[in-house]
Amino acid sequence: MNYKIINGKLLISENGHIRIEEKDLYVNGNKLSFAEDKSVTYETMDASHKLIMPGLINMHTHAYMSVLRNYADDVDFGEWLFNRCMPVEDRLPKDAAYWTNLLAFAEMIKSGTTTFVDMHMFHRQSPLAAGAAGMRGYIGRGLVGEDLYTDGYSRFKEAIEEKEEFESDTMKFILSPHAIYSAGPKLMEQVVKESKDRGMLHQTHLSESVTEVEDCLKKYGKTPVELLRDIGFLDDETILAHCVQMRGDDMDILKETGATVVTNPASNAKLGNGFAPIKEMEEKGINLCVGTDGCASNNTLNMFREMGLLSLIHKGIHKSSTVMSAEAVVNFATVNAAKALHMEDKLGVIKEGAIADIIFLNLRTPSMYPENNPISALCYSANGSEVESVMINGKFVMKDNVLLTIDMDKVYYEVDKIVEKYL
Ligand SMILES: [Zn+2]
Repeated sequence: MNYKIINGKLLISENGHIRIEEKDLYVNGNKLSFAEDKSVTYETMDASHKLIMPGLINMHTHAYMSVLRNYADDVDFGEWLFNRCMPVEDRLPKDAAYWTNLLAFAEMIKSGTTTFVDMHMFHRQSPLAAGAAGMRGYIGRGLVGEDLYTDGYSRFKEAIEEKEEFESDTMKFILSPHAIYSAGPKLMEQVVKESKDRGMLHQTHLSESVTEVEDCLKKYGKTPVELLRDIGFLDDETILAHCVQMRGDDMDILKETGATVVTNPASNAKLGNGFAPIKEMEEKGINLCVGTDGCASNNTLNMFREMGLLSLIHKGIHKSSTVMSAEAVVNFATVNAAKALHMEDKLGVIKEGAIADIIFLNLRTPSMYPENNPISALCYSANGSEVESVMINGKFVMKDNVLLTIDMDKVYYEVDKIVEKYL
């Protein structure tokens, strides 16, 4: 299907600056264009009072964890992780994660996310569900152990099998060692080599807590950032979640290597880990993106809330109303994410020839009205409910608030059964 979208307001981001333009937009197959192709038949859509923007890119999540939403809150970190979350993960059968992934994707789509970067625990379930939902995914099986080819092998094998079975235009795979305290330096080094050989990106959790940094300093005499730099893990194909506890030259190293930092403000706050020095990282020129993390530590996958929190938290920390502007934060969730995924000018933008991953927000709704500044609205007043229609790779997955790829009655039924049996 090809679409001619008229009367809409388009969010255009160029060279770090965002503007709103009223003009027609064409969707030819899975590509965007500003020019009509006379040889093509279009379905015309009237987008009066709609803001059309690139779909949001959630750069760090664990989609299967949606089943743990609101399950273990306001408890000590050790209780949260070891007594509440991990035992459920251990009890869950693999195929349960198919349904909990679909629940996550429904929330993502309804709140305007079109691409997610995932680290998961349940073989094949994330790509299976993402395929069914029509989501664009960068998916990684969480890897642990000391050696990728011995104690880490069963998970690595699953990671590679998923890539071989599911890789497509909308589904890519990313090697995902869990963290420096669960995956040893040798395994990290092996991951880099494998990712280069296979043309994959690599991601990990890094410097999330004070304990992680102190343990690393004790064990290796280096910060987690220095440790990963020294084994060659950090480059422009590296995606690092958290980076909250920066020490010494850590931020300079991140800048020099070209690694991307994904900040997860709700998760870091909820688990009492503090706030990443995002303003300082921005000043150094590090590529910054936003993620929600999983539902156990957030408890939502709503990128609008995450963008709002990010801006407000750092304004508060720095006692400055000018840091983390709405424009900067919207860029984090769109163009910067596309850069990290090596999809610059293809994802995260509305421009000639870009991929048709776009969302339609209703401007005639109280949280968006009056239209004093739609870019501000995205960061400060929108809550995600304004998203009415979502297109991924040229296909609608939600149209006029109706989910087209996910049967929610079935998802609620299956998730209820899982909760009853395993939580
Ligand atoms: Zn995480």
